[in-house]
Amino acid sequence: MTFDPRTYQYSGDLLEGRIIMITGASDGIGRALAIHAAGLGAQVVLHGRNTPKLEAVYDEIEALEGAPRPSIAVLDLATADGAAYSALAESVESTFGRLDGLVHNAGILGQRLSIEQYDPAEWQKVLHVNLTAPFVLTQLLMPMLRQSADPSVIFTSSGVGREGKAFWGAYSASKFGIESLSQMLAAENAHTALRSNCVNPGPVRTGMRLAAYPAEDRSKLPAPEAILATYVYLLGPDSKGVTGQSLDAQ
Ligand code: NDP
Repeated sequence: MTFDPRTYQYSGDLLEGRIIMITGASDGIGRALAIHAAGLGAQVVLHGRNTPKLEAVYDEIEALEGAPRPSIAVLDLATADGAAYSALAESVESTFGRLDGLVHNAGILGQRLSIEQYDPAEWQKVLHVNLTAPFVLTQLLMPMLRQSADPSVIFTSSGVGREGKAFWGAYSASKFGIESLSQMLAAENAHTALRSNCVNPGPVRTGMRLAAYPAEDRSKLPAPEAILATYVYLLGPDSKGVTGQSLDAQ
C-alpha cells in the first residue's frame, strides 16, 4: 500500500519508548516535530545552536501531560569542530545508549543568486551546514543507531533537491547531495534494520520560507504542525522495511 500523508492515522502513543534526535529543533518544522513526537511518547533530543530557543521548546514539552522529559544538545553546525561533534555523540551514548530515530532537519537557505553571482564562501557554508554536518553526525551516531531494534534516519530534502532551478545556488546542490547521502546509507544498510529516507516538506510557513519568498501571502501556507504525518510514519513502526525513498510531506 502506498503511503499517503493525508490519510495516515496513528495512535497517540506511536513513538513511546523511542529515543529520537531532531536537529534544528529550536524553530520551524523541527520545533513542531519535536513537540509532536514528545506528545506521541518519544524521548526527544532537541538539537540546535540557540540555547534560549531550545529551552523554550523544552518547557513546552515539559508542560505536555505524559510526555517524556526531553534533553538539549547544543552544537552550531556551521562552526563546530570534530571534538564538539564527538562530545555530542558521547553524551547521547552515555545518557541513552542507543538512538531509534535521527531527523536531519536543520538547514540554511543561503543566497538566492545566480551561479555567476554566488559567493564561494557562502556556497561552502551552506554545503557544510546542509550536507557535511548531517554526514558527520550520522557517522558519529551510527553506533547508537545500531543499538536500536528499529532505527530510522530521516534527511530533509526539497523540491530543488530533485530539480535544479534558477537562483537556488548551494541550497539546491546541498539538497541533491542529501538525496544521494540518504540513498547511499539505505543501500549500505539494505541487510540491516536501519532505514534511511528523505522527506520533502513542501512549502511550509516558517522563517526559511519567508526568507525565500518574502512577497508571498503566508496565510495560504500550512503551519509546520500540519505537515508532520510523513515524519511520524518514518519514525514509527509502520514504516519498517521502507528505505531509500524520498517522500513528500504534502
Ligand atoms: P527554519 O529556518 O524555521 O529552521 C531551521 C532550523 O535549523 C532552526 O532550528 C535553526 O536554528 C537550525 N539551524 C540553522 N543553522 C544552524 C546551525 N548552524 N547549527 C544548528 N542549527 C541550525 O527552517 P524550516 O523549519 O523551514 O526548515 C527545516 C528544514 O526543512 C530545512 O532543512 C529546510 O531546508 C527544509 N525545507 C523547508 C521548506 C519550507 O517551506 N519551510 C521547504 C523545503 C525544505 P535557529 O533557531 O538557531 O536559527
